[in-house]
Amino acid sequence: MSILAQNADTAASDTDAAHDDVADISTAEAHAGLMLTALGLDVSDPGLIATPGRMVRALREMTTPPQFTPTDFEVTAEPGQLVLVRDIRFVSVCEHHVLPFVGVAHVGYVPRYRILGLSKVARVVHHYARRLQVQERLTRQVADWMSGQLDAAGVGVLISAEHTCMTLRGVGAAGSSTKTSALRGLLLDDVAARAEFMSLATGPA
Ligand SMILES: [Zn+2]
Repeated sequence: MSILAQNADTAASDTDAAHDDVADISTAEAHAGLMLTALGLDVSDPGLIATPGRMVRALREMTTPPQFTPTDFEVTAEPGQLVLVRDIRFVSVCEHHVLPFVGVAHVGYVPRYRILGLSKVARVVHHYARRLQVQERLTRQVADWMSGQLDAAGVGVLISAEHTCMTLRGVGAAGSSTKTSALRGLLLDDVAARAEFMSLATGPA
């Protein structure tokens, strides 16, 4: 196992062990039923009898980070070469309303010593998305993982998402999207590298 994989496993298991310890599914189901009842809904209705359990299982799935083992390779790319994975679709859950936000992430990096298996870039996004989250922190966490664990010379993360807490209720801003970015190293400091990342991430596919 590489140092990279060891570090990532340690980081992931700390969070997930804590999550598993506190999960009490039967208590959650009982409380979900009580909440629906308190909202004036009749959970004895045949259509709703299984609803508290479904609510809990759906929420549990959306807030449980999937495990991943990053595979990294020695650099064979040219120094300074940008690697970009675009249009990584994700689902996360807004920690303010416990409603989903869905979107796409574009993740670019300039390797220093190591490159990451391309499919693993999407797994990093999903790992940090599948939990109670805010979009700004999700963007930062992906960028920090890439620059820290992979020791990349530069990292750029752009995320565009629709927050259902905003588009389906409240102000009802249907169709609106929220964009966030996090830039590290070369992709923050070097104007030409940043422009290349931005144009590849936001230009035609
Ligand atoms: Zn919200």
